Formats: sequence, C-alpha cells, structure tokens
Amino acid sequence: VVVVVVAVVLAVTLRKGKYTFEDRILARCEKFKGSDCRLIWAKFQKAYVGRDPCNVPMEAYDDFIAATQFKPECNRMMFWSKTKDVVHDFTEKRDCYVTLEDTLLGSVADGLTWCGRVGSSETLTTGCPRWTDCENNPVRSFWSRASAAFAEKACGNVTVMLNGSIETPFSPNSTFRSIEVKKFDATVMRSLNVVLVTQTNSVSNCTNASLKDLQKELAAGIRYSCKEVSEAQIRECSSNPEKPCGACW
Ligand code: NAD
Repeated sequence: VVVVVVAVVLAVTLRKGKYTFEDRILARCEKFKGSDCRLIWAKFQKAYVGRDPCNVPMEAYDDFIAATQFKPECNRMMFWSKTKDVVHDFTEKRDCYVTLEDTLLGSVADGLTWCGRVGSSETLTTGCPRWTDCENNPVRSFWSRASAAFAEKACGNVTVMLNGSIETPFSPNSTFRSIEVKKFDATVMRSLNVVLVTQTNSVSNCTNASLKDLQKELAAGIRYSCKEVSEAQIRECSSNPEKPCGACW
C-alpha cells in the first residue's frame, strides 16, 4: 500500500507543471489570431482517439482540415523534400515564403507524435507506431491529409526546395512526389520553381533524371524551372534581413 501511495504521489507531482499534448496544440493554435482552437482541437483528436493506431486513414482528418479554413498566400508558397532544416531556418528568419508548417494547419503538429488506443479517450505520446511501422498511423495520415490540402491551394508561382546531396532529389516515396505534386492545380498555379540545395560535394544538379520525371508529372500548363543554389547562399540570405527576398537566388 505504501509503495502504491508513494508512486501515485510521485506521479501526480511530476505531472504538475507539465504541459499535456492538448495544451501544446492549443498554445500553437492560439498564435493564429481569430482561430477557434477548441473546435480545432476537438476535430483533431476525433481523427484518432479510441482508434487502433494503425487504422487511421488520412480521411479521418477531413473535419479538422475543414475547421482550419486555410487561405493560400499566392506566389509565396514553399514546398520541400529532404530539406527540412534549411527550409525552416529560412522561413523562420525571413518573411519571404510560407511552408505548410508556418500555417495553422501544419504548425499545430510539427515535430509531434501522437496516437489513440481502442477503448480509451486519451491521446498518447509514447508507444505510438513509427512512420513506417504501418501506413495508416495517426501522424503519417495527418501529414498526408494536410499536405494534400496545402498543395490543392497552391497558387501563382510556387517554390520547392529539393536536396541536391542525394541521387534522387524528387524521391518516389516522398510526400512531395506521391501527394503534393499530384494535387497541384493548373487553373490556379502558374509555375513550379525548384531550388536544388547543393553542398560542396553534391551528387545532383538540375539535369538529374528524377527532375525530368518531375517535369513529366506536373499537370499540363504549369511552367517549370530549376536552379542550383548552395546551402551556404541560402543560410546567408536567412541571416541577412536587408537582402530582398527576390535577391536570395
Ligand atoms: P521528407 O522525405 O523530407 O519527409 C518529411 C518528414 O516526414 C520528415 O522530416 C519526417 O518527419 C517524416 N518522415 C518521412 N519519411 C520518414 C521515415 N521513413 N521515417 C520517419 N519519418 C519520416 O519529405 P516529403 O516526404 O516530401 O514531405 C515534405 C513535404 O510534405 C513538404 O512539402 C510538406 O509540405 C509536407 N510534409 C511535412 C511533414 C512535416 O513533418 N512537417 C511531414 C510530411 C510531409
């Protein structure tokens, strides 16, 4: 009995002052003024709570997507694949482009892990399936659904940062290739401009075979361009706010 009491007291004490998963989602949401964060949280958790964590399809987030009312910023939308650090270093420091993670839709969940359990109304943050453990896990399905919503609205001149340090910058299993490019809509999108992020020993350039595939997979009517830009040059632009966005590359 003593052991149980001590354990309970300890558990309660340790929990005090710690943020729950719900607190974190609400705090991130509230940075976007005018959002109904309680409603957004309710729709978000409805997708996975009480469900087998390997049986949450992307459609489970449809109501959450509808509740976030995403408005695109034409000509400033930025996609990425295998360049997460450099792209977010840039968008955090400079107000030139907007990634999914800079919008309410993506920012609430970026970097987090969550899942539910059959017969429970809780959100768990440990012991959840990892990205490749099963396809229909809550985190992966969230990103598939959010990416589809973001790409569907892509308008004007759109940019993507791809990684020139790998053999296949337009990677077959990536979300960018398997979801986002397929959702691009030629009636609202004018061009896709690839920024191929290179390093001193980069293995790819704009003539890369996978980039040829990208041009073929783009809907007719969307223009394409590609530019090799060193990571150093991008970081330089991130740290120099006086440099106009258009002069970064
Ligand atoms: P990517 O391959 O760099 O993967 C993006 C993220 O998905 C990774 O940072 C990681 O968090 C996760 N991920 C992917 N494969 C994984 C694996 N095998 N194991 C563990 N985690 C894995 O690029 P992508 O797939 O082309 O996705 C990026 C694009 O899609 C962006 O344009 C963005 O809009 C959207 N997206 C964002 C996230 C995110 O975590 N913020 C995740 C998926 C997709």
